Formats: sequence, structure tokens, C-alpha cells
Amino acid sequence: MNPRDASLPLRCWAEIDLAALERNLRLIRASLPAHIRYVAVVKADAYGHGLQQVAARLMHAGADLFAVANITEAAQLRELGPGWPILVLGPLLPEEDRYVAEYDLAVTVSTQDEVSRLDAAGRAAGRPISVHLKIDTGMGRLGVWHEEAPAMAGLIAASPHLRLAGVFTHFASPDDDPAFTQEQRRRFLAALGALGPAGPAPERLYIHADNSAALETMPGRSPFNAVRVGLLQFGVLPHPGSFLSQVRTEPVFSFRTRVGIVKHLPAGTTVSYGRTRVLARDSKVAVLCAGYGDGIPRSVSNRASVLIHGVRCPVLGRVTMDQTVVDTTDVGGVACGDEAVLIGRQGGAEISVGEFSRWADTIPWETLCSVTKRVPRVYRTALGT
Ligand SMILES: *Cc1c(COP(=O)(O)O)cnc(C)c1O
Repeated sequence: MNPRDASLPLRCWAEIDLAALERNLRLIRASLPAHIRYVAVVKADAYGHGLQQVAARLMHAGADLFAVANITEAAQLRELGPGWPILVLGPLLPEEDRYVAEYDLAVTVSTQDEVSRLDAAGRAAGRPISVHLKIDTGMGRLGVWHEEAPAMAGLIAASPHLRLAGVFTHFASPDDDPAFTQEQRRRFLAALGALGPAGPAPERLYIHADNSAALETMPGRSPFNAVRVGLLQFGVLPHPGSFLSQVRTEPVFSFRTRVGIVKHLPAGTTVSYGRTRVLARDSKVAVLCAGYGDGIPRSVSNRASVLIHGVRCPVLGRVTMDQTVVDTTDVGGVACGDEAVLIGRQGGAEISVGEFSRWADTIPWETLCSVTKRVPRVYRTALGT
């Protein structure tokens, strides 16, 4: 975040409730069998919530392992927690290999090329490198194709410079295709079985497959002994109507701005760029101090509402870079400086990340990653209720 005069008020900010984050981790844990280890996924600046504060709180709450997307994120995290276990989920560039030992990371391997490069990196470092073998069971992205997994495990086992620390897979459609998810589980279990005696004892490995959405279909008894949780720990459901609402996680993130001006416009006036909205009645509009430069996508133009004085106020016309116009005709006493909630609670009302994402024709993951760096993250840490 750019240095700024801390006495300046906030015009648009994200509020992050770290106490809720901690409660969420504990609730998710409590909903799983006791032996399941918790891999906290904190890629993309902890889904836009801020890596530093989020990682510290998750470790405090009992995360077993952090997962990040790449070496740069891993290096940042290593600086925050010298002893924290870290898994890099994404592939390495050749020039990045040497940092794996330097930062004491576990890394994902999918290919023979990666095995031989990491073997060389481990030899150069003089100590073995921890790897998680990723198996492609139908995602078609990272991982060794499941039929070739035993051969790849053999290569890892044959290297004195590599230590197999985990085996995992990733689901393509856990939220809407239980049959294919089941098939992916079947392929994964078959591949695990085929690792045979060459594979080390399962209790010494992290065996993981489930992300947030897949937790719904996780079998009670299985060799899986870890889960990789991202979205759910932030109190956001992967889709509306998810069974995971029973876990009762709470939203961690809210997105807020303030009213810049309030004014009256006559019926027939058009609002904002492109004149996509014609006022049907004499209206009182409020111009908010935030736009797509802050992460309100243009796609919510004429679709989203915001909360002002606890009342839903529809967005009028196009969202612009720095301002968004909303209809406050039916809300009494709106004035310059009043808070407007884009995502979150106000009074008894709430706009969830999910609802906002549907207005934007996107998914909650993208909404959280799209809040820009102009928006300060403000942390609430109290262990309230
Ligand atoms: C991002 C990611 C996750 C976490 O997914 P959520 O749906 O946010 O829980 C798990 N595994 C992998 C490989 C990922 O890239």
C-alpha cells in the first residue's frame, strides 16, 4: 500500500474481520474428521484480503500448511513466518529452481523435467527437496496424467535429493458435477493404490484433493488426510445453496465507500457515460466515491445495488473509474460522507460476495481478487462474537 497520511479519512476501503477468519477456520476444522490436516490456501494476497495479516491469523488458529501459487508469494510468506510450512501449487520457471531450497519450500511436480531439475537443485543445495506429486485425474491442467503417476512416483523415489511429502489432485467441477468428481476420486485412489510399496507410508504423506466446493462430497472414510481450503475460510460459499452453509462460516470481507454528493435530477435525464439509463421519475441520486478503479466492475452497471442507511439503492447507469451513481430517491436524509456498502452488512441488510458476483457475471473468487490496490485494507482484530 502506498504511504499515505494516516489522518486522511477513507473514501473506499475493504474491512477484513480477522476474528471471523479465525472462527471460520475452527468451524471448518470441527466439521471434518479430527485427523484431517488443514492446508490454508493464501494465494493472490490471500484472495485479496492481505497475506500478512491473514497468514498470521490462520497460523495462530491452527493451519498445518500454507499453499501459495508461486515462488514470489512463497518468498513473501517465508519472510513473515521463518518456520511455516509452505507448498507452492504452481509450476516453477527454470531460474526459480534454486530458490526452493533457499526458502525451504515444498513444491508441486507434474513432469519428468521438473523431477530432474529439482533433483539437480536438491543435489546443489546438499539437502533433499520436498515435493508433492500432483496427479491429473481430469482437470487437464497441472499434474501427471493419472495412468502415468506410478512411473513418476518411481522417479521421485529413486532420487536421493527428493523427498515425497504429498500426493494430490484437483477437481474440475466439484460444485456442479458430482459424477465427474466421483470419477476423479476413483482415478486418484486407483493411482494412489498403484504407487504400491514404492510409495512411502501414507501417514507420512499429505494426501489431498478437496478444495472448498469439494468438501461437500468428501467421503467420510478415505485415505485423504488433508484438505486445501481457500474460499470457505473467508466465509464465502462456492455457490448459492451449498450444503457448506451448515458449517456456518461468517463473511470476513466487506467493501465500503462513501457518498460524495447528493443531488436532484428531473425525470428524463440520462445518467453517466453512454447514457444507458434514463431516469423514469424525478430522482435524488447519490454519487459514490468509488468506481472500477477500486474494483467495482463495469459489468454491474445498472445491475448492482448498494446499502445506504441499511436500504438497497440501485446503481444508475455505468460505473466509471472513480464514481458510481445510485438512486437514493426513497431514502431519507442521505448526505455527503454517508457510508455506502458494496459488499457486506449495514443495519439489518446484507449484500454477499456471491450476490455481488452474480451482478458482475463472475464468481466470488474473481470478485475478491479484483479489489484494486487503491483500496486500503482495514483490519478488525477483536475477538468479539
Ligand atoms: C486455489 C486452489 C485451491 C483452493 O480452492 P477454493 O475453492 O478457494 O477452496 C485448492 N487447490 C488448488 C490447487 C488451488 O489452486
